[in-house]
Amino acid sequence: MIQIPRIAIIGAGPGGLMLARLLHLDGIPTALFERDAHALARAQGGTLDLHADSGQLALERAGLTDGFRLIARYEDQGSRVYDKTGALLFADDKAADGDRPEVDRTALRELLLASLPAGSIRWDHVLREVQAREDGAYDLVFDDETVGPFDLVVGADGAWSRVRPLVSAYKPQYSGLTFIEFGIDAVDERHPALSRLVGRGKADIQGDGRALIVQRNGDAHLRGYAIFRVPPDWATTTFDFASPASARARLAAEFEGWAPEVLDLIWASNDQIVPRPIHAMPVGHHWPNRAGITLIGDAAHVMSPFGGEGVNAAMLDAAELARHLIEDGNWKNAVRAYETAMFARLVEPAEQAAEAAATEFSHIGLELTLRHLAGHVRLRREGAGPS
Ligand SMILES: Cc1cc2nc3c(=O)[nH]c(=O)nc-3n(C[C@H](O)[C@H](O)[C@H](O)COP(=O)(O)OP(=O)(O)OC[C@H]3O[C@@H](n4cnc5c(N)ncnc54)[C@H](O)[C@@H]3O)c2cc1C
Repeated sequence: MIQIPRIAIIGAGPGGLMLARLLHLDGIPTALFERDAHALARAQGGTLDLHADSGQLALERAGLTDGFRLIARYEDQGSRVYDKTGALLFADDKAADGDRPEVDRTALRELLLASLPAGSIRWDHVLREVQAREDGAYDLVFDDETVGPFDLVVGADGAWSRVRPLVSAYKPQYSGLTFIEFGIDAVDERHPALSRLVGRGKADIQGDGRALIVQRNGDAHLRGYAIFRVPPDWATTTFDFASPASARARLAAEFEGWAPEVLDLIWASNDQIVPRPIHAMPVGHHWPNRAGITLIGDAAHVMSPFGGEGVNAAMLDAAELARHLIEDGNWKNAVRAYETAMFARLVEPAEQAAEAAATEFSHIGLELTLRHLAGHVRLRREGAGPS
């Protein structure tokens, strides 16, 4: 690369960290700002499956495949579907040979953090706004200081990006679905029946226009999502999340009449119970190129988590932006080329995620789930597609 711009990355999620790592490998310095006070300031969330042609590809370009294999859980790619009586409708328990291994989000963040030189991240920096300067560069306004100038500001700051307003007036829209998240520790030892119910992977239990999706994480932890089609403020006005015991009992009441062995998933939860209203950017979201500002990951295209594309797309965005910055002679053209390809690449997964969110709980929702899963198994057996 001939010109090296002064680059700021906002957000040390999977996208921002991957971008910093890839540019660092090529000797391009970045300033990476993160809202969290430190690496362990909050739990990073549940398990993610990394796809061969996106998340894993980015890790390979970043020289992190060996490290990833140490934390990847190939054995946890199974999938089951039950109805509310606990009847098993579908089981794919032999998925360990699939190419979408699971990884705990915290382990992935640790892998990426360890791949950067010490002191690369400026923790405890909550971006308030990006200010355009008269010379064409940008200053970053934080609570206690203004930092700059930077030639290129990359918003990797997730769904509620504070960089996005500089290029787009769009905001994420409520999908109509709210997830209520809960967790169960030491499931193999303390709740062997629940361990068997979920198996090695994910259990999707549907009925009465609602669902429980429970995923096995590392360290015998189960993370569950109770999924409802409700108004956006329903969860906060219905549950007392400050009291896990009260929230748990209220959640169980929502599933009254379901088989006791299924309801035990809720009663056994020993974590915080947390609402996650699901928002998404409009399918095909794009913006006219603005010199010096761009977005990667959820900041550009947050979508509903059905399909598990979000983290994979964020890491591939980072890999592609880095590739253009390293290979193209002019950094402004490099950003433009990244954006043009990214906009086109994201249309199909965003469409699929939106359709999955729209059809969840439709009168044929369960049938669509079963058909979709059977298709995956068939493709894997033929060695031709997603696992
Ligand atoms: C319930 C749920 C389940 C999901 N399950 C899956 C799944 O199974 N598979 C999958 O692929 N995806 C899943 N996703 C989506 C996935 O989490 C995201 O797509 C992915 O994390 C996007 O990565 P990112 O780096 O773009 O953003 P993020 O992971 O959101 O990271 C953004 C970072 O920016 C920081 N930040 C935010 N604002 C500021 C600010 N103002 N100043 C400084 N720093 C800031 C944040 O603290 C964070 O560290 C799920 C999402 C949800 C809500």
